[in-house]
Amino acid sequence: MIDTYRTKGLRKQLVKILQKKGIKDEAVLNAILAVPRHLFMESSFLEFAYADKPFPIGSGQTISQPYTVAFQTELLKVKKGDKILEVGTGSGYQASVLIEMGAKVYTIERQRKLYIKTKELLQKLNYHPKKMTFGDGYKGLPAYAPFDKVIVTAGAPYVPQPLLEQLKPGGILVIPVGEDVQNMKRIIKMNDTKIIEEDHGYFRFVPLLNNKAED
Ligand code: SAH
Repeated sequence: MIDTYRTKGLRKQLVKILQKKGIKDEAVLNAILAVPRHLFMESSFLEFAYADKPFPIGSGQTISQPYTVAFQTELLKVKKGDKILEVGTGSGYQASVLIEMGAKVYTIERQRKLYIKTKELLQKLNYHPKKMTFGDGYKGLPAYAPFDKVIVTAGAPYVPQPLLEQLKPGGILVIPVGEDVQNMKRIIKMNDTKIIEEDHGYFRFVPLLNNKAED
């Protein structure tokens, strides 16, 4: 588990690319600079780790493109101490970016293999979510609700109602919605009866799979 001058240098370049693509939130950029993305991947081909591209992480899943991680995190307006639910733990990279920003992270993954592998990795890297669970993200995590923010990192065919219900008033849900391509939505829950919905452009995610968690 090593981070070198070389990998740190590569992250600086990545941050410059993200700035050019329009990411402005300093806290987001600093977190991307800090989190050693190459250690979240199967192989440590550095040129892939720090290219602005998604990458396979096993179990048919991908680690999201750095720009997508940065964009979703910026939309979330993360504040230190925010209690954040992430749906789709995957490699654990997005969760680590949020932890690096001082958030308390609760995260759900539906593939057991990935859940176990990522749990071990985050321990080693010293990134500690408040809670990592194996289960179905459509249901959220009612036992730990309410949350300040919710982030969904797989493409959802619709906005799952439990995720909205588990937000605090004033809370923010960032979720890519759609089948083949997804529209990045930011939904602000003003109170129990009023929500504001914004569209933030098109992205492509692996699907948020319905119903059951899988061994
Ligand atoms: N945030 C991840 C991105 C992983 S890709 C990262 O930083 O690497 C999306 C993940 O969502 C996959 O790991 C997939 O297994 C998971 N997923 C898909 N459907 C899900 C569901 N219903 N509940 C929880 N996780 C789900």
